[in-house]
Amino acid sequence: MTTADTPSETSTHFRTCPLCEATCGLEIGVSDGAVTRIRGDRDDVFSHGFICPKGSTLRQLHEDPDRLRRPLVKRDGVHVEVTWDEAFAEIERRLLPIRDEHGADAVGVYLGNPNAHTIAGAVFTRPLLQVLGTRNLFSASTVDQMPRHVSSGYLYGNPGAMPVPDLDRTDYLLMLGADPLESNGSLCTAPDFPGRLAAIRDRGGRVVVVDPRRSRTAEVSDEHLGIRPGTDALWLFALLHETIGSHGISLGNCDGMVDGIDGLAELVAPFTPEAVEDHCGIPAATTRRIAAEFAAADHAAVYTRIGAHTVSFGTLGSWAGDVLTLVTGNFDREGGLMWPTPCHGKPHVAGSAPGGRGFRTGRWGSRVSGHPEVRGELPVAVMAEEIESPGDGSVRALITMAGNPARSTPDSARIGRALGSLEFMVSVDIYLNETTRHADVILPSPSALEKAHFDFAFYGLSVRNIANYSPPVFPPEGPSEHEIVTRLALIVGGQGADADPELVYGLITGQVAQQAVQLEGGPLHGRTIDELQSAVEHLPMPERIIDLMVRCGPFGDHFGASPGGLTLDVLAANPHGIDLGPMVPRADEVVRTASGQIELGAGPVVADVARLAAVLEEPPGDGMVLVGRRHLRSNNSWMHNVEVLVKGRARCTLQVHPDDATRLGLVDGKEALVQSRVGEVSAPVEVTDGIRPGVVSLPHGWGHDDADARMAVAARHAGVNSNLLTDGAVLDPLSGNCALNAIPVVVAPA
Ligand code: SF4
Repeated sequence: MTTADTPSETSTHFRTCPLCEATCGLEIGVSDGAVTRIRGDRDDVFSHGFICPKGSTLRQLHEDPDRLRRPLVKRDGVHVEVTWDEAFAEIERRLLPIRDEHGADAVGVYLGNPNAHTIAGAVFTRPLLQVLGTRNLFSASTVDQMPRHVSSGYLYGNPGAMPVPDLDRTDYLLMLGADPLESNGSLCTAPDFPGRLAAIRDRGGRVVVVDPRRSRTAEVSDEHLGIRPGTDALWLFALLHETIGSHGISLGNCDGMVDGIDGLAELVAPFTPEAVEDHCGIPAATTRRIAAEFAAADHAAVYTRIGAHTVSFGTLGSWAGDVLTLVTGNFDREGGLMWPTPCHGKPHVAGSAPGGRGFRTGRWGSRVSGHPEVRGELPVAVMAEEIESPGDGSVRALITMAGNPARSTPDSARIGRALGSLEFMVSVDIYLNETTRHADVILPSPSALEKAHFDFAFYGLSVRNIANYSPPVFPPEGPSEHEIVTRLALIVGGQGADADPELVYGLITGQVAQQAVQLEGGPLHGRTIDELQSAVEHLPMPERIIDLMVRCGPFGDHFGASPGGLTLDVLAANPHGIDLGPMVPRADEVVRTASGQIELGAGPVVADVARLAAVLEEPPGDGMVLVGRRHLRSNNSWMHNVEVLVKGRARCTLQVHPDDATRLGLVDGKEALVQSRVGEVSAPVEVTDGIRPGVVSLPHGWGHDDADARMAVAARHAGVNSNLLTDGAVLDPLSGNCALNAIPVVVAPA
């Protein structure tokens, strides 16, 4: 049984875990309407039974008494439960006048990370944003992966196409700023990352981890290099310098597809291994050896992630990792960096010309500081100033969806004050947390077990091509999540919350159908939009959009044109997922630069390399710096209300090297005061030789000490908010991403 209609029966359900990017298959037992057990689905075609401690807590999340079941409206400063009709009426009554009087930009939007893991976030926010028309769009992307989008934008003309390391076929994996044994992988969807790393070593390959901390991932690698925080780009440029100078350039599958290769040696000329040695803290001889090993490996890939991205040279770090993979002949080939083929994406048309419109940023800028938009977003670091600074275009009302910027974004004391000054705020969220406590209306999403699931985001980042659809285990108590978002769109659009959601649903399916029929030479070319829409209109949402997209996609049945191809029915009949095979070379499909080539000489990148070279003219930093860290039982800020995940030894500690502890008079278990330019926190010290001297580490997402939040378990394990220390003024200029690592701090006994 896989459907949600008879919760009183004892039944087993198979679904994809929506909590992180690994997309593990879960087996969920239900009896008398309650979950009795959750374990890894051993028959899942991708995860083969792997599960982490978070996956089994979907039951606790579903049953959490603090999870909101009914909307809240703030009356006289207190949140009170109301009906859905009352909540939507309140939004209509208060949001629309602000927009009418002050214009579209007066309503800002913040989208949190979980939106990437839901169908509503992936598909249904788009019409809401379209009807809002605001330039004040912010998201967790600019405290996370935006540098990776931007490097893909400049290299491939396609910011959505972020190549992933072909973990299962590589012989040499060079990881910078990634700790997949804690994160379970990011921008690289690979359930059982630990097993896949072990397999590289088992088949004679090599795993090298570059990280200021000897992370758990570093512990299971062949080699760990304890780089100074914030210098990953410098070191990768030195690897490029050494590779080009000593081992030459080999483009492999990409030969004839790369523009600007002749200028690369000159671009990387300043970055000799000796020039970066003291800045990075990696001996030149080691850099030369790693370059030689990487160039000699049969299949090699660089995997850069959050520690290398959330710094002031984040885009260059991402760019250089891809280019090193490219010039060693490992790009777009098995065992290197590749692009998966999402089953809901556009089908390839043989013989179609490569290229497209390319990539650019800065179509508008932020009102106060002039930061350029990137992918339609402004840096979340400027959200507070866009709220606080009066004038035309200031943010007076805010919609947050599944986000907690009061804990997840830099200088969050200021963010908290700014949220408190808004004229009106709506949050779509399951908790009354440190952010949503400021909201005038909170609309609770259903629990993860009450939603259908399909990984629109992560099939594009997956190390194998996979398709898996999960129906809800239980029916939602209130409206479905996509309906909530749709009703917001209807309100903003002036139709009112009671208008027929089909107005929006038709828009969404129409856009997908239009793209399919317009694809010249594609399998649906010549069919009509109406024809495709009619074929799926009997289905409810969101199944209708899933069916439409997979049927139009590269593995789809193309509405009869490709018999045996994917449909929603086929997905539903395969609850353990469908393995569509390994990644295949597809640069000619993916590259959308104007030239149709992978472009190494994009102007903004070249200009930023000059900024990187200027670092070499300065003395290496010698003060203490702060970095973050992940933990397997944590998931940014929102899963700390699950007792089983937070119990035991406190994890929100300040890690300090023993030499620094002695020098600074810090004692294990005692409090330390950490001060940055923007704030200070006091945290318990954890002395460990697993961190580089000169570096301290605090995990993010903690600080559940807000009396107005309603998360009882989290409040008992509050920890401290590391983003009181991170500085919103320090950004990666190409992407607008905040520098959440390498923050200068002063540390002393509290
Ligand atoms: S690794 Fe991620 S997807 Fe897998 S069970 Fe854990 S939280 Fe869920």
